[in-house]
Amino acid sequence: MGDSRRRFLKELSGLGAAAWAAPLLSGAGGAAAQTAEPGKKLGFALVGLGSLSGNQIAPALFQRTKLCRLAGLVSGHPDKAREWAKRYAVPEKNIYDYANFDQIRDNPDIDVVYVVLPNSMHAEYTIRAARAGKHVLCEKPMAVSVKECDEMIAACKAAGRQLAIGYRLHFEPNNLEMARLARERVLGAVKVIEASAGFRIGDPAQWRLNKALSGGGSLLDIGIYALQAARYIAGEEPTSVSAQVSITDPVKFKPGVDESVLFRLQFPGGAVANCSSSYATGLNRFWAGAEGGWFEVNPALNYTGIKGRLSGPQGPRDFGLPAVDHFAAEMDAFSDCILNERPTTVPGEEGRRDQRIMAAIYESAEKGSTIAL
Ligand code: NDP
Repeated sequence: MGDSRRRFLKELSGLGAAAWAAPLLSGAGGAAAQTAEPGKKLGFALVGLGSLSGNQIAPALFQRTKLCRLAGLVSGHPDKAREWAKRYAVPEKNIYDYANFDQIRDNPDIDVVYVVLPNSMHAEYTIRAARAGKHVLCEKPMAVSVKECDEMIAACKAAGRQLAIGYRLHFEPNNLEMARLARERVLGAVKVIEASAGFRIGDPAQWRLNKALSGGGSLLDIGIYALQAARYIAGEEPTSVSAQVSITDPVKFKPGVDESVLFRLQFPGGAVANCSSSYATGLNRFWAGAEGGWFEVNPALNYTGIKGRLSGPQGPRDFGLPAVDHFAAEMDAFSDCILNERPTTVPGEEGRRDQRIMAAIYESAEKGSTIAL
């Protein structure tokens, strides 16, 4: 067994993946996981029964999470909600729609609201959930502006509830290993990072291409993974950004919705990151060039099949780390924090950092100049 695999398995005991994620960006502590009340599973309500909820989150909550379970459904489509309720054994009394959502405050089955709506709806439902006394897990991107992020953080703070952002790669072993290799300078200091995330978008009528619902284009949706990777590999915050937006199909990509974005981040320690985000083509690789070699994840952000490798004297070798269900790991880690009254490692403040940098990326592209952060 390789060193990295041995280390990973050791840390995986309990919810070690979450513990290992702790120093990734936030610096928050990550003690070994235990439930405050053994056997207690927190109840999660999903808001927005779309493709992510249906293909990943609900199955994970139904079959794979250890500390939480699917307990509520919030949807604009009652028939769909009833059908899901049957499939996932959710009582019909725990179904809500967007109008009566606030009544969730009276439902003791629900501890956490997981917001899985189009981006521009994240702020409203996070704030309403916090006011209803629930903890909130909000999908990425956190919101569509820094102002909204501030309002979400303030609402959760005022309610005394935790707010976490759905950064699933903080709980994925190969991405965690990238951050560790950089942090511990295993191959020396990292000098250059290349991070690319993209996919070819289909249906032109979908909300992702509607600025009022998406708040932007590929950057907020998928490029955010490249930004995250650059930050957790560099292990510090960028000081400046320069960027270009490219549109080859102005019919599909209306003003304010980018097709592709290239951005360059400068870090105070001297590392530079070249990042690409695209709705025009598949991009799926995070690479770090250090003084003594390189390491990468490729593919970097699939739900399954992520592979990491690093250079060595006998040629590249795989990280050889076990696969995990990203969403089960993310939700169990958040539940563990709530049950043990520890702060999440992916708080609203982390989502806000990305939102601020993404705003600067768009500003740089618009002005054609470097923006200091
Ligand atoms: P979908 O379009 O598949 O689902 C969104 C759901 O939101 C809809 O099914 C609908 O649920 C509800 N909704 C409410 N109002 C609207 C509206 N005006 N237009 C469209 N939908 C509406 O989106 P995804 O599931 O792909 O994405 C949801 C969120 O999850 C986004 O913020 C996205 O960035 C994030 N995401 C994160 C991923 C990750 O890997 N972490 C991967 C994919 C997405 P209902 O019919 O029940 O009301």
